[in-house]
Amino acid sequence: MSQASPSPFSTLPLAPATLENLQRLGYLEMTAIQAASLPHALLGKDLIAQAKTGSGKTAAFALALLANLNARRFAVQALVLCPTRELADQVSNEIRRLARAEDNVKLVTLSGGVPLRGQASSLEHGAHIVVGTPGRVMDHLDRGNLKLDALNTLVLDEADRMLDMGFVDDIATVAKQCPPQRQTLLFSATYPEGIAKLAAQFMRDPVTVKVQAQH
Ligand code: ADP
Ligand code: MG
Repeated sequence: MSQASPSPFSTLPLAPATLENLQRLGYLEMTAIQAASLPHALLGKDLIAQAKTGSGKTAAFALALLANLNARRFAVQALVLCPTRELADQVSNEIRRLARAEDNVKLVTLSGGVPLRGQASSLEHGAHIVVGTPGRVMDHLDRGNLKLDALNTLVLDEADRMLDMGFVDDIATVAKQCPPQRQTLLFSATYPEGIAKLAAQFMRDPVTVKVQAQH
C-alpha cells in the first residue's frame, strides 16, 4: 500500500505562534484525520469526522476551536461534550497544551463526581472554553452558571459513545441553547446509524470525512 504523503501543519492557515507551539510539542506532520478534517474545520464548516481511537482527533477539533477563539472576549466561546470524566480530563489537557501560552486562555472542565460549587466559581471567574460531560453541563446551564449565547464552536467528541450511553436528549437540550450560527464539529471512532440522525438534528450541511484503519 502506498504511504500517504506527509502533510505539515504549515500548509494550514494557522497563526505562526500556533505553528511554533506544534513544533515544540513534536507535532511535525498532521495525522491522516487531521489532514482530512482541519482544512474544512478552519474554513468554519460543520464537520463529521470518523477515525479510530488514537488517531489524533482531539488536536483536530482543538486547533479549530482555538482558531475561532478571541481570548480578549470574556465569554464561553467553545463547548466540548465528552462521554466520561476521564475523557473530559484528557481533552482538557490536550487543549491546554495546544493553546498559545500568551493568549491566557481559560478552560473549565465540568464533569460529575466533583462538587458543583467549585465549578460554578471557576465559571464565574471567566471561561473561554468549557469541556464537560452532558449531564454536568446541563446542571450548570439549569442553574444559570453557564451561558452559551456567545458560543462559536460546539464539539461532540466520541459521539458514538455518547449515543451508546443515552446522552442524545441531553445533547439536544444543550445544542438548543447554542446560537444557531455556531460551528458544530462531531468526532467519532465508529459511524453507527445514530450518528447521521444526530448530525441531521444539530448540524448545518456538514462535510463528512472518514479515515479507514491502515493495516
Ligand atoms: P483520538 O482522540 O483519535 O483517540 P488523541 O487525540 O487522543 O486521539 O491522540 C492520540 C495521541 O496522539 C495523543 O498522545 C496526542 O498527543 C498524539 N498526537 C496527536 N496529533 C499528533 C501529531 N500530529 N503528531 C504527533 N502526535 C500527535
Ligand atoms: Mg478522542
